[in-house]
Amino acid sequence: MTKVLVVAEHDGANLNPSTAKCVSCAAQFDGAEIDIVVLGASVAAVATEAAAISGVGRVLTIERAENTPALAAILAPQVAAVAGDYSHVFGPSTAFGKDLMPHVAALLGVNPISDIMQVMGTHQYQRPIYAGNAIITVNAPPEHTVVATVRTASYQAAAGGGAASIENVAADAEIPQHTRFISVQTGQSDRPDLQTASKVVAGGRALASEENFGLIYKLADALGAGVGSTRAAVDAGYVPPETQVGQTGQIIAPALYIAIGVSGAIQHITGIKDAGTIVAINKDEEAPIFEIADIGLVGDLFKIVPELTDALS
Ligand SMILES: Cc1cc2nc3c(=O)[nH]c(=O)nc-3n(C[C@H](O)[C@H](O)[C@H](O)COP(=O)(O)OP(=O)(O)OC[C@H]3O[C@@H](n4cnc5c(N)ncnc54)[C@H](O)[C@@H]3O)c2cc1C
Repeated sequence: MTKVLVVAEHDGANLNPSTAKCVSCAAQFDGAEIDIVVLGASVAAVATEAAAISGVGRVLTIERAENTPALAAILAPQVAAVAGDYSHVFGPSTAFGKDLMPHVAALLGVNPISDIMQVMGTHQYQRPIYAGNAIITVNAPPEHTVVATVRTASYQAAAGGGAASIENVAADAEIPQHTRFISVQTGQSDRPDLQTASKVVAGGRALASEENFGLIYKLADALGAGVGSTRAAVDAGYVPPETQVGQTGQIIAPALYIAIGVSGAIQHITGIKDAGTIVAINKDEEAPIFEIADIGLVGDLFKIVPELTDALS
């Protein structure tokens, strides 16, 4: 019997859409039972959201004061403690899941599997390697629990309309003392989150300064879009790291991606492989970004972007 436990990602108030994407991945197993576990200090609202995801049988809640803010070292023993009944434990391939799931795998004594993009069988999966330039088929040993992250850009969120039961469980786990929360520093932004934005405007090194990056923000605001960037722009200090798209940044799948002054290095492209329409603005008509762009504008971004923004405003 295939039984999948999905670890919910949330901010204490709302469920992250990555959870419903993990459910879509789990639903690729014929007849699987799918449960969600929500860990936090007080998770009633999040559990209610999780229970509405179609295809979910039960939502397990584990409420402890130590679970907020979420630390992988603290959550992992609790997830491992309730994983015994399951053949698979899934988390999203977001910063949350990439941190947590290897901890869980280590506690269960198994190798984690990263970035499932396609289920071939209960113990056979496809995942990208070499910055998404090749797809590898991975076989997991059927005698062990499969602990894996799900590549969220490969899955649509499962629909709502479900009515799973919600059960509070006490995870019999010793909470480690070696890791504790000190503080968190995040960029504050009212703009759409990169992971969920349907439109993203991204700028590259060509912007040449933090001030010039204002052009990208203006266009993004005119479109109601999120803001992305290349690693070169982040390294140069034009934008904060959480905007970086690509192999070592975020993997995203917006319906519209506008790449401005972005060359199209493979490490960047791997972050937008699942984007819908890709628009590129670059002054070099030979730039690799044009090989994957659906619409290409050859020209100077400092001329094109303000004109575009004015036309939209
Ligand atoms: C292990 C590893 C991981 C990496 N991970 C990532 C990652 O996650 N994300 C990522 O983005 N990169 C990543 N990189 C870096 C990547 O290889 C590239 O160096 C980077 O993406 C280049 O950024 P860019 O396109 O902004 O800059 P450039 O390559 O310098 O390109 C700038 C582009 O702007 C164009 N341009 C210049 N002026 C104008 C103008 N006035 N108008 C219009 N166009 C103009 C140029 O023609 C050029 O195409 C990684 C590299 C390594 C080795």
